Formats: sequence, C-alpha cells, structure tokens
Amino acid sequence: QQVLLEVKHLKIQFHLKNGKQAKVVDDVSFSIRKGETVALVGESGSGKSITSLSIMRLLPIPPGEITAGTIKLNGKNLLDYKSKEMSHIRGNEIGMIFQEPMTSLDPVFTIGNQMIEAIRRHQKVSKKEAWIQSLKLLQEVGIANAEKIIAEYPHQLSGGMRQRVMIAMAMSNNPQLLIADEPTTALDVTVQAQILKLMMKMKEEHHSAILFITHDMSVVAETADRVMVMYAGQIVEEATVRELFLNPKHPYTSALLKTMPSLDTEATRLPTIPGTVPPAYALPDGCRFAPRCPFVMEQCQHVQPAVFHIQDEHKVRCHLFTEEGELVHGGERSLT
Ligand code: SF4
Ligand code: MG
Repeated sequence: QQVLLEVKHLKIQFHLKNGKQAKVVDDVSFSIRKGETVALVGESGSGKSITSLSIMRLLPIPPGEITAGTIKLNGKNLLDYKSKEMSHIRGNEIGMIFQEPMTSLDPVFTIGNQMIEAIRRHQKVSKKEAWIQSLKLLQEVGIANAEKIIAEYPHQLSGGMRQRVMIAMAMSNNPQLLIADEPTTALDVTVQAQILKLMMKMKEEHHSAILFITHDMSVVAETADRVMVMYAGQIVEEATVRELFLNPKHPYTSALLKTMPSLDTEATRLPTIPGTVPPAYALPDGCRFAPRCPFVMEQCQHVQPAVFHIQDEHKVRCHLFTEEGELVHGGERSLT
C-alpha cells in the first residue's frame, strides 16, 4: 500500500517565557499508508496534539518552532509550503476533527453557512450546489432532520450532534487524511460509540486514512490498524493493533494496557501508572520513562534508548531490546 504521510525525525521546541526550551516533540518518525487508520496514543502532555498540529501547520509559531525534520504528504514536504498554499491543503487534502467542536464551529454562522463556506473554499461550485452537498453530507452522518439542522446555530445542537456536523464538514472535500484529535473524549459513552462508528463508516466511504489521536486504549482496539505509543515527546513503540495488544514490548505500553477496562473488572477501579510524564523542559538525561519504569537499569539513567526493530512492523525504543532488535535510529547504541 502506498505511503500517504511520512513524518521523519521531527523535532519541535517551545520557547518558554522563563527562557527555558521545551522539547515537546523529539525525533518522531512514522508513516501512514493510504486508507490506513493509525492511532497515536499516550497520556496528556506526551506531544500527540502538538504532532498533529504541526502536520496541519497549525502550530503556534512562536512560541513553537520546528527545529528539524520533514512532514511529507504524497512525497511533498508540507513544511516547505507558504501559508497560503497550506490553506489549500488544510480542509481539502487534510480534514480535521477536534475534541470540542464548539471551538472549531463558528457560533455566529448557521451550520449551513459554515458547510457551504468549507466546500466553496476548495471546490468551484455554486452556493446552491454546495447547499445540496451539505444536506447530503448531513444525511450521510446520520442526521435525519438535515433540513432543520442546516439552518441552526452550533449552540442549538447537542455535543454529539455538533460532532456529527464536524465530521460532515471534515469529509466535505474528500480528504486523503483525516486527523481526529480525541474526537469523542467530551461525549458520553453511548454517543462516543456512535461517533466512532460513524467516523469509521465515513472513512471507508470517502477512502481516507485516519490519524487518530487518543489516550484511550479501548478506542484504539476498536478502530486502528496500527498504533504508535507516544511518551514525553517520543514514539516509544509502534506495531499493528493485534501485535501491540498481544505482545507489547515497551514497559510503558504494558502499563497503558493495564489501565484498560476489561469486562470482568468492570466495576472495580483501574490501575493507573504511578508518577507523571516529565515536563518537556526538564527531561531526564537517559530514558524518559526511567523514573516510572519497573525494569529500569543502570544505563537507562544516562543513555537515551535508540529505536529497535523487533519484527515486521514492530518497533520499540527501549534498552531491553538492544540484543533482540535491529537498530533503526536515534538515541545512542548502549552496547560497545
Ligand atoms: Fe525502562 Fe530502561 Fe526501557 Fe526506559 S530503556 S523503558 S527505563 S527498561
Ligand atoms: Mg491533546
């Protein structure tokens, strides 16, 4: 399958007011194939949202700065585009869905006006034609009374309904890549399931790939083909969903999986991972997970682990795999 998005050695820093530098994304590489659903998971503060914002070129610069790397869509580096060229790509080749649709929907315009505008920004169609397309899209996302909704304002809709509208808008120009950042986090559980199902249906119908950003492993299990686990600005493990769930390698991934609810422990409290993600301005010298890792070794304290290739599409950034895996990139090879 052809590669759609290829991020290579991406480094993003934030210049903090106190003069410190925060390495929020540090040597991140991954790719997404056409039509694939790839989840990017991790706790808040791991750099997942910053990574997605940088792909859309919506990173606030300053204080943010991309200090290294490339982000290629169909072989072209998005970082080379002028902001005007980029605005043709955003909303057209790349669709976006965020956690809180209220922040992406404009409160002063009707749903219809916003959808028509989104369509006409990228397609040469009349208002009438765009209105017909909008209506069709609203029906596609399961809004039965589309004629009524199209004339309403965002605040008149429920959270779930707004998210349906956002999905309709994101898909309106048939994006090759849909970036969904915690799209169901603000919704209640039943609505969450419906919205996930809808996203997957729309992705199939519009032949899009999805970069799905979430902190929820059960969402990953239901939606993704592959998973990338992010911790403190780095991808620490990457594998197919099946492989990652059956055979997690990185101690952080194992800990994350233990925080997942399973049917037999439904009512009981879930374990959480002790400790917190280190702040991006005060990262440990060695492995960033070392302060929380149950397997921490002497070298973990001062040598950054490299990325090792375990098998097929399985990669891990951890010293425990120095012998088993094949060196891919980054860190320092700790064995001499
Ligand atoms: Fe744990 Fe060391 Fe692996 Fe880091 S490199 S995850 S501290 S074993
Ligand atoms: Mg986020």
